[in-house]
Amino acid sequence: MKEHVMKILIVGNPTVGKTSFVQQYVSGQFNKTYKTTVGVDFSVKTLPWSDNETVRLHIWDIAGQEYSFSVTRTYFRGALGCVLMFDVTNSNSFLSCLQWKQDLNNKVMLPSGAPIPCILLANKCDLPERVVTADSIARFSKKNGFFAWMETSVKDNKNIGEAMRRLVQEILSVQSSEDQPLSRKEDNVDLHSHDATNHQTCC
Ligand code: GDP
Ligand code: MG
Repeated sequence: MKEHVMKILIVGNPTVGKTSFVQQYVSGQFNKTYKTTVGVDFSVKTLPWSDNETVRLHIWDIAGQEYSFSVTRTYFRGALGCVLMFDVTNSNSFLSCLQWKQDLNNKVMLPSGAPIPCILLANKCDLPERVVTADSIARFSKKNGFFAWMETSVKDNKNIGEAMRRLVQEILSVQSSEDQPLSRKEDNVDLHSHDATNHQTCC
């Protein structure tokens, strides 16, 4: 049995539903109120993937650090995939996605130098007071290099498992293409040393 271990980041503005999303995904519960957690929380979920593969997800919830907007590099280090979430009833949370994506691209990359796969989630689609249109999400997603976007409702448990499966699938397919013989192993840079050499202003 082969086990893939993957660090996944959940980012986005405060109150868009990140912590609820992780809770729902990991333990199948939706809680109406959450204490604001400070620092980083991470949860583990094991996903049967195929007859001979399992996926072990380490899901990092930004938990409070989103207030400072520039999240520490430790949070990003070694991540293989990302969920960027906004709230469809809050246009500001959608507008911030550009900054989140840029921050992500600057702080973590695959050994080839490419950005890590990122899925854009339009959460709280159960609410009637929606202000962000599907058209504008689709345009933004395409322009900014998301491999997919989806509407979700953590409250109604809509598209939660589906979104994570899409992300894992994308990570696995990116990994197998990066493993092609054409990409010479010596060219690959360890994420740690890359981080240390390229970014002096490590926070
Ligand atoms: P975070 O700050 O991004 O971690 O957001 P939280 O997970 O703490 O959620 C903020 C608030 O939004 C909480 O009151 C949640 O119950 C609520 N919430 C999260 N997801 C949904 C959703 O899909 N629909 C609705 N209606 N409320 C949600
Ligand atoms: Mg939270």
